[in-house]
Amino acid sequence: GKDHRLARISSSIRVIPDFPKPGIMFQDITTLLLDHKAFRDTIDIFVERYREKNISIVAGIEARGFIFGPPIALAIGAKFVPMRKPKKLPGEVISEEYALEYGTDKMEMHVGAVQPGDRALVIDDLIATGGTLCAAVRLIERAGAEVVECACVIELPELKGRERLGDRPVFVLVKG
Ligand code: AMP
Repeated sequence: GKDHRLARISSSIRVIPDFPKPGIMFQDITTLLLDHKAFRDTIDIFVERYREKNISIVAGIEARGFIFGPPIALAIGAKFVPMRKPKKLPGEVISEEYALEYGTDKMEMHVGAVQPGDRALVIDDLIATGGTLCAAVRLIERAGAEVVECACVIELPELKGRERLGDRPVFVLVKG
């Protein structure tokens, strides 16, 4: 049946119209973080789903994947790997470009953080077009590891982000 916790999670997310620019409905998870029950339930649902799946890596996407990723990694006994914006990681990195609405951005990962045979969960707060998750998936797969699933708190289904991820499953809690 439907998880009774999802209604509270959904209503704890604040929507701010026209941020950061006109036409964008910004899904603000900072209000979810202010509701300790909703925040705990969010982490618990992910932990329940991934604890028996032999996940060795939780890869969190900067910045809001750094909020949800670490508590999940600790609870399931996996490593946490930060997927960062350019020029933030101090060691040797591999990088992937991805398309934005105007122009491109880059994501970087430390060489050696993810290794062949690793089984990774990729986590972010939200999937829109899927371009961001896709860049993270490419980095992990270039390192020789398997992406078991991508997970987000929120999906904007109209943007069809899951189609970009091909065969990799995408798990979300609520839709925006
Ligand atoms: P995309 O690459 O198009 O799937 O965009 C996903 C990334 O952009 C995530 O890291 C989100 O945090 C952020 N993002 C995109 N659209 C929104 C939105 N409407 N509200 C909040 N964050 C968003």
